[in-house]
Amino acid sequence: MHKSDIELFEMTMDVMKYAVERLTSTTHDIGTPKKEEELKALVGETITEKGIGGEVAFNLWKKHLMKANVHIDHPRHLAFVPASPTRASIMFDLVTSVSSIHGAYWMEGAGGIFCENEAMRWIVSLTGLPKDAFGVFTSGGTAANLSAMVTAREHWRENECFNEEKGLIITSVGAHSSIKAMAKVIDVDVLLVDTEDKLHGNELQKTINNLTVQQRKRLFAIVATGGTTNAGIIDDLLGIASVCEKEHLWFHVDAAYGGGALAADSVRHLFKGIEKADSITIDPHKWLFSPYDCGAVVYKKPELAKKAHAQEGSYLDIFKDEGSQGFNPTDYQIQLTRRVRGLPLWFSLAMHGTDRYKEAIERGLELAQIAGKLINRMPHVELVREPSLSCVLYRRIGWKPEDYTHWTYENHRKGFALVTPTKWKQGDTYETVSRFCFINPDTTENDIEMILDSMK
Ligand SMILES: *Cc1c(COP(=O)(O)O)cnc(C)c1O
Repeated sequence: MHKSDIELFEMTMDVMKYAVERLTSTTHDIGTPKKEEELKALVGETITEKGIGGEVAFNLWKKHLMKANVHIDHPRHLAFVPASPTRASIMFDLVTSVSSIHGAYWMEGAGGIFCENEAMRWIVSLTGLPKDAFGVFTSGGTAANLSAMVTAREHWRENECFNEEKGLIITSVGAHSSIKAMAKVIDVDVLLVDTEDKLHGNELQKTINNLTVQQRKRLFAIVATGGTTNAGIIDDLLGIASVCEKEHLWFHVDAAYGGGALAADSVRHLFKGIEKADSITIDPHKWLFSPYDCGAVVYKKPELAKKAHAQEGSYLDIFKDEGSQGFNPTDYQIQLTRRVRGLPLWFSLAMHGTDRYKEAIERGLELAQIAGKLINRMPHVELVREPSLSCVLYRRIGWKPEDYTHWTYENHRKGFALVTPTKWKQGDTYETVSRFCFINPDTTENDIEMILDSMK
């Protein structure tokens, strides 16, 4: 072997060893950030004219840099929306990388896109959308929401004679921050119904009735949430669907976090009405156990997305001939060149079967119920509201906001757990409370108990 071949072989073995260790270890620390200056002092110059060598760079990664990341799949990481990618999906993420697949057009990525579409068909079947509905994998929920909103806006402009007016959408205070952020990107206004609790169809109707004639003309879409990020609340999707139908508005359901629960028989009925949506966002990198990053957007009428998103360019014409023989993911969302990021999900689904997914999601729901019971039993904590999906909001009796912050940092610093405070809005006041979000089926009752005990 050439020297360079030996080096490549050794590097490959090192990387594989690292991957296997990370995948099989059950005891790794949760990880804590360090200041940039501290990291710089630890690793020195890494980008030089001659290179520092793979072994040195990899050792810096293992010894210092890797440890400065929070392992979001840790069983006591219950902050934000955790992740818990299956081992199968992680292994296939490596396969996706080494395969160098350009996932924009069927012409180049047929094999990979075929697999993505197999997984997508299962996701679409969970939504109950009609037969021609289909979707595409995106970089995440933000990109999925943006792709859906662009489609809705373009569709609106086509139907109304375009009058240079800024569009308007209605959602609720409980909606995810990305809705407002993406509305900025497409330059439309957002009207927030002032409730963090379940948004009901009649409330939405009232809000629409109160619009000025001008505002009503600008309104083109409603964004409902299928599992709010903060509290797991599912809006009254059926009621909202009826309003949208009556008022001729695009009905988008953001189920980036909650969408996985469509697979869980115990809560599926809470999503009734989602089958009437024009578009739906679901993040496989949240509750469908995919590695980062993997979101998905599903459309009732994919041809509308194609009208809004298909890119034109003389260098792309070849794909319009040969490539049009198959499904071109680029035509249904904002990205051109893309990773076949649904491929790891496909492999894991194919290997394990969908029943295992159902069980793992049900376990997250069950953990929230277990946490609720423990909180009810312990005198120093109390529920703020009943657990919803896998989110639990609770308060430590007598604590001020700074107590929650201090407790969070203390647990994190020790590498014990990451549970962050949030705010819950009731009337006009925001209360700082603690929040669990369960995704990882390996979290145990004992983990929850230890975390609650640390609040004594
Ligand atoms: C997480 C989340 C998003 C954003 O998704 P990313 O994958 O982080 O871009 C959007 N909507 C909801 C409801 C979410 O929970």
